[in-house]
Amino acid sequence: MEKILCSVIVPMYNEEEVIPETYRRLTKVMDDINESYEIIFINDGSRDNTKAMLSELCKTDKRVKMIDFARNFGHQIAITAGMDYAAGDCMVIIDGDLQDPPELIPDMIEIWRSGFDVVYGKRKSRQGETFFKKFTAKIFYRLLGKLTDVDIPVDTGDFRLIDRKVCEALKQLPERSRYVRGLMSWVGFKQTAIEFERSERFAGETKYPLKKMLKLAMDGIMSFSYKPLRIASYLGTFLSLASFLYLIFVLLQKLIFPESAQSGWASIIAVSLFFNGIILLMLGIIGEYIGRIYDEAKGRPLYIISELKNMEDRKGPRFKINE
Ligand code: UDP
Ligand code: MG
Repeated sequence: MEKILCSVIVPMYNEEEVIPETYRRLTKVMDDINESYEIIFINDGSRDNTKAMLSELCKTDKRVKMIDFARNFGHQIAITAGMDYAAGDCMVIIDGDLQDPPELIPDMIEIWRSGFDVVYGKRKSRQGETFFKKFTAKIFYRLLGKLTDVDIPVDTGDFRLIDRKVCEALKQLPERSRYVRGLMSWVGFKQTAIEFERSERFAGETKYPLKKMLKLAMDGIMSFSYKPLRIASYLGTFLSLASFLYLIFVLLQKLIFPESAQSGWASIIAVSLFFNGIILLMLGIIGEYIGRIYDEAKGRPLYIISELKNMEDRKGPRFKINE
């Protein structure tokens, strides 16, 4: 296989409006570095023209490669596939919508050369994003920090450069609910941040609706923490103690002042609603973990590829097509 210094990994889901500009800015930056590189686009089951446009680029530029998914598997799986097939000594993971500036890549490579294994982009500011998104992201990163034992840097997305050895380490982690930035913190190695201003999307709309954001948040918390389960047992212990005390109180009251017994419908209904609510919530938390165990137990591949372009000879480490 040819020697490649840097693989740029770009997930693409319905991004027809940004592809030409992303390609132009990426190749400009990479050409200036004057080293061998490849750009791996992952078409994550787009329904628009994305696949046709990427195939066209693959025809005219052999440094452009494409992994075409059989359906939409999600952003985190897409970048995982990119890393599985990348050939570079280092790889850069970058969003396809130009919110992460490609112009930062030369600096990242400089820092990597000076001896760091992971150079992650830390957002100094985020432009063109709704107050709701910024607010929920802020809360999420802080909550995640409180709940997990792994030190996952705050305000950091997937935009980063990683060394090949980090990628090889990640390949050893077979889990299905993937929160990639968390996994990268988990494997360790020498990491450092580079700050940047996150700009607006070049065109199009976010491909992360609330549903996908919630899934990512749940994956982040559930894959790195048992604390929700522990909260469930603490809360359960506390509530049963409290209700036991109340039981004693009620019994004594009945024994000492038999005539004080009240009709008590309101209090019974309130207590029962409260407890049933808590029980359902706790069952839900337990169910989340069981669902994840079930997913792992099925052992399905992480993704299905329908086509590889300009790298048909490469073998994915874990999941092969047509076999
Ligand atoms: N993306 C993807 N699959 C998905 C959703 C998003 O590959 O199911 C890609 C998308 O094309 C983009 C990147 O992931 O390159 C980040 O998505 P987006 O910009 O929509 O997220 P946001 O920046 O709004 O959080
Ligand atoms: Mg974006």
